Amino acid sequence: MVAGRGVALKALGKELHLPGVKAAVLKQQWRAVEELPKKRTVVAKLVKESRGRWAWRPRSLREIKRAEKKCGQKISSGKELMDAWNKRELLRDKASASKWYRENTSSGFGVPALSVKFPELARGWRSVLRIISGYLWTVPRLVRAKLIETQDAGCIFCGDLRGETEDHMLLHCKAWTTERELTEALAGTRPNGDSYKVALRRANEKERRGLLVWAAALLEKIEAKRQATLAPLKITRRRGRSPKDEVLLPDYHAAP
Ligand SMILES: [Zn+2]
Repeated sequence: MVAGRGVALKALGKELHLPGVKAAVLKQQWRAVEELPKKRTVVAKLVKESRGRWAWRPRSLREIKRAEKKCGQKISSGKELMDAWNKRELLRDKASASKWYRENTSSGFGVPALSVKFPELARGWRSVLRIISGYLWTVPRLVRAKLIETQDAGCIFCGDLRGETEDHMLLHCKAWTTERELTEALAGTRPNGDSYKVALRRANEKERRGLLVWAAALLEKIEAKRQATLAPLKITRRRGRSPKDEVLLPDYHAAP
């Protein structure tokens, strides 16, 4: 399972039935507000003295109330509040992920429309769709997936010791400087800042169109060179003899 970066991590938490931090805290707050005043120790006294807007009890009560309101349902236990908050977070993640996907794939400015307009960038568009729906196959990802093998921890294309990341590939890798210049001339733009995805998120429709064409053109241009470097590192699987050897066919032509 692939974990990391927002939505995927949330999905992992869902699979393993792990509540988010905020949800777990709400449950504990509920419990404290409910249980602590009943204690027969000094704690009960501390609870009574917990006054003022920012003391823990008034604050917890306020936060619980706010969470209940946001969840839009009547809550009767800490566990219920935790579950409701979790559900709300998951729905919101889904909504923001689908908004991101919709913005970059539908409408006249999305990838499908653009790939019709620039069919010569076919492989590039495929990679752009990978960026939008997940991630590019960087070298560390290929290694983790056991598709290639390399002892080199740095970027195998330019030697940068920090290794290849999506943004290193797109924005910084020295191996693709020429391609990047050609791409900028073709697309008439380039992403600002240190993250392509952040630049894409911040762009308006028109800018986004330019950034998508930019990425498709760059990824199309560097694809062949990447493949040439990666090919010798590919892991080929050999499991003993090939199946053909194991089937013993009767020899019909042998003399009796
Ligand atoms: Zn590099």
